[in-house]
Amino acid sequence: MRFGMHLSPVSGPQRGHAIGCKALQIFCGNPRGWAKSPQDPQRVQAFRRDVAEAQLDPVVVHATYLINLAAPEAQTYKLSVETFLDELRRAHALGAAFYVVHCGSHKGQGEAEGRRRLSDALRRADREVPQRPEILLENTVGTAHSLGTTFEDLRILLDDAGVARAGVCLDTCHLLAAGYEIRTREAAAHMLDEADRVLSLKRLRCLHVNDSKGGLGSRLDRHEHLGKGEIGEDGFKALFSDRRLWHLPAILETPLDKPDDDRINLWKAVELAVSVGAAEPLLLAQMPTGPVEAIEPKSRGISAHRVRGVRRVPKQSRVARSKGKKAR
Ligand SMILES: [Zn+2]
Ligand SMILES: [Zn+2]
Repeated sequence: MRFGMHLSPVSGPQRGHAIGCKALQIFCGNPRGWAKSPQDPQRVQAFRRDVAEAQLDPVVVHATYLINLAAPEAQTYKLSVETFLDELRRAHALGAAFYVVHCGSHKGQGEAEGRRRLSDALRRADREVPQRPEILLENTVGTAHSLGTTFEDLRILLDDAGVARAGVCLDTCHLLAAGYEIRTREAAAHMLDEADRVLSLKRLRCLHVNDSKGGLGSRLDRHEHLGKGEIGEDGFKALFSDRRLWHLPAILETPLDKPDDDRINLWKAVELAVSVGAAEPLLLAQMPTGPVEAIEPKSRGISAHRVRGVRRVPKQSRVARSKGKKAR
């Protein structure tokens, strides 16, 4: 499994590299606002260069939260679809392989109507943005009126749209909260059997690896630190032990309560994966075991320069550096 994290589009490649990411997820713009300034070609170039230097693959873009491709209100729907198409273009410019979007909410207008609007939006993407990342629909916890909670629902949405290069991203927190048991080897295998039977595992292209504050079937969308929630360390080990997941990018969207939480959660995920053969032990050996200095967005010019400077240091001394930090 190639583990990565959701990080800032500005400092993400450098931070990701520093904490041991092999993949990266970002928002392309403010996730809670509609307005976006035009993409700065220089920034795009810098991002792509940083991603290449850090060997992050794949890059995943997560859609802005405001987008609701099943929205019944004409104005919200129009804005959602326009933003969706714009973000697909931006994501392509950034070199993203995948664009993850939630299936949206029909707000009580009925599933059929919501599904129709979503598939119209997906078909527009096919027509209007031929050069784009693969669109992945993310499963949800199943609050009222939301689409995409069950494998059946995701299959109908994809089949209805019938677009090329579209698949699914499964979020472990959302699976559990929606009522899919994944915390024993048998349960995880059964869940994947179901996903394969209903949806086809060929369509499963990415995982979101998050622990869950809510229990099985709680419908609570609250992510928890890896191993500290209802899924727990044993739950993740059971899930990761299934070989059908080993080729997938696995992105963490865990809370950042303290500055070093991203590194700690990533380390924990890789440790659990290594313990069941889902990741190379060498991967863990190369990861820093102590705090890694945060890259301050405000002084990113200076910090970024410093971090890039670090990268030019031969590998050996880089390991020594992080070991030194552990001792501190
Ligand atoms: Zn999401
Ligand atoms: Zn997610």
